[in-house]
Amino acid sequence: MSPSRMPPSTPDPSTPRLLPPSSRRAPRSRRTVRRVLLGQSDRSGTRARLSGVGLALGAALLLGACSGGTDATDGRLRVVVGAYPFAYLAETIGGGHVAVDLLTRPGAEPHDLELTAAQVTGVGKADLAVTLGGFQPAVDQAIKAAPPRHTLDLSAATGISVEHHDEEHAIAPDGHESPEDLAHDPHFWLDPALMGRAADAVADELRRLDPAHAGDYDANRDRLDAQLRDLRDAFRSRLTGCRSTTLVTSHAAYGHLAAFTGFDPYALALTPDTEPSAGELAQIVSVVRSHDVTTIYTEPLASPKVADVIATETGVPTAVLDPIEGLTDTSAGRDYLSLMRADLETLVTGQQCRP
Ligand SMILES: [Zn+2]
Repeated sequence: MSPSRMPPSTPDPSTPRLLPPSSRRAPRSRRTVRRVLLGQSDRSGTRARLSGVGLALGAALLLGACSGGTDATDGRLRVVVGAYPFAYLAETIGGGHVAVDLLTRPGAEPHDLELTAAQVTGVGKADLAVTLGGFQPAVDQAIKAAPPRHTLDLSAATGISVEHHDEEHAIAPDGHESPEDLAHDPHFWLDPALMGRAADAVADELRRLDPAHAGDYDANRDRLDAQLRDLRDAFRSRLTGCRSTTLVTSHAAYGHLAAFTGFDPYALALTPDTEPSAGELAQIVSVVRSHDVTTIYTEPLASPKVADVIATETGVPTAVLDPIEGLTDTSAGRDYLSLMRADLETLVTGQQCRP
């Protein structure tokens, strides 16, 4: 699929004008910023765009959360997860032996997940929760309040310690993501090698909980491992000879991808629902002008408003790059692997790579 490249749109008059740089990039009050830049109408608009495909997918994944105990899963292991990449791992490796409950509804971004009382109860009925501790505080709290039979925290397998994402994983005032912050960056799935380590951990856990199907889990893991190796090779071989190696994205999700492809990552905000201050915006504009940036990447589950402001200011086009935090009916692929392939095509075009 060819990436969509759009000319910058006219900035909303309510968007703050560029002001002199601020001295630091501290966590901001999310709600205040959202009120200023997004407004409630944007959020309900996103919901209204969801079509039957996304809703059906969500209904299938959420089925277990709405039903009773493990008997409702026909003997399958009930696995509960907070974000799509973990659901992909559990479903791909578990196959027909697991029933996966994804707690984030389709079209929602998972950072800010809030759970209903019924969902928390569902967590307590699960055989296994697969999480990345600190990435989604609501999931951590649910596991504490209603412990599932087992919990697999992928922090150990991936070497990532998120703690509290907002406070521990920081970006510089100009949006730069330093390599030192990688150990706190939750988005491991955007490096297929780290995704492979997580897959190994999920397979080990399923084998331990359900030894009768160990052969199936191993076979599924081996097949996924091979696909992940091919994927990583494709990224490394095709993202060479690029005119721009500066990667400017909507939120700080691409540190791990940048690390293995050799790009230098900058983000407009730390998480999808935070926005840069006017001073930080000015610094990002300065980075875009001085680094030969060829594309500013927006993402499907967050407002493109800030990226559009910068694109208008600098004349650099935008394109949609998917951090694969959730699926929607407008996703460029049907699963993790196809979304990663679509992202690769977007980057080859956007960074102007000619291997
Ligand atoms: Zn994210």
